[in-house]
Amino acid sequence: MISIQNGSHLASTYCALAILKIVGYNLSNMDSESILTSMRSLQQPDGSFMPIHIGAERDLRFLYCAAAICFMLNNWNGMDREKAKEYILNCQSYDGGFGLTPGSESHGGATYCAIASLRLMGFIGDDCLSNASAPSSKANIQSLLDWSLQRQVADGGIQGRPNKPSDTCYAFWIGATMGTLGANKFIDEKALRSFLLTCQSECGGFGKFPQELPDLYHSYYGLAAFSILGEAGLKPLCLELGVTEAAATGL
Ligand SMILES: [Zn+2]
Repeated sequence: MISIQNGSHLASTYCALAILKIVGYNLSNMDSESILTSMRSLQQPDGSFMPIHIGAERDLRFLYCAAAICFMLNNWNGMDREKAKEYILNCQSYDGGFGLTPGSESHGGATYCAIASLRLMGFIGDDCLSNASAPSSKANIQSLLDWSLQRQVADGGIQGRPNKPSDTCYAFWIGATMGTLGANKFIDEKALRSFLLTCQSECGGFGKFPQELPDLYHSYYGLAAFSILGEAGLKPLCLELGVTEAAATGL
């Protein structure tokens, strides 16, 4: 038996490449073939991805990581895009949102992974809303918009699922989904901005909920949400990669 020390993981690979893009490293200097060859064997017959080679859960999170990796390396040899698309479409629930796996409950994070992956893979264009019935997009965009819009609740914040409290990070997961679909004009921006400000800590950074202590994860997505809202002083985001446009395009 071969023991694998510190084996590679799709989420770590995605994060590493995104960080390299953010610091301006030219990814064409990397050995992308070995990354892509390794990744290709992680795709399952149903189109989903497993994150590691020794077996693990498989769902939309790792499919998203794989799509983002191929996009950043500008090489799609690491995955079968048609199969991946089929898996994503199987994850859309009866209520319009996407679950992490086929048949599971709709969730803001899974919905972002689905729509961002379709965008990265080239199945969703800039004119998605006017082209919602195009054959390339079999996702039910209308019911997805309905589900997404219903996630903004009375306090102005955005929840990840029905009957859950508003949470800073879903302002990004749902806001970026709406933005990718060209529909963020339907968000009540003023109310969302007010909610996010209540989650900003006096110590700096953002917490998950109002008056909570800040953490790095919610601070990042709090700022990302403010960028989607067009806050002055923040750079525009590449919504589907979750980094600035400047980092995504290497400018
Ligand atoms: Zn959160």
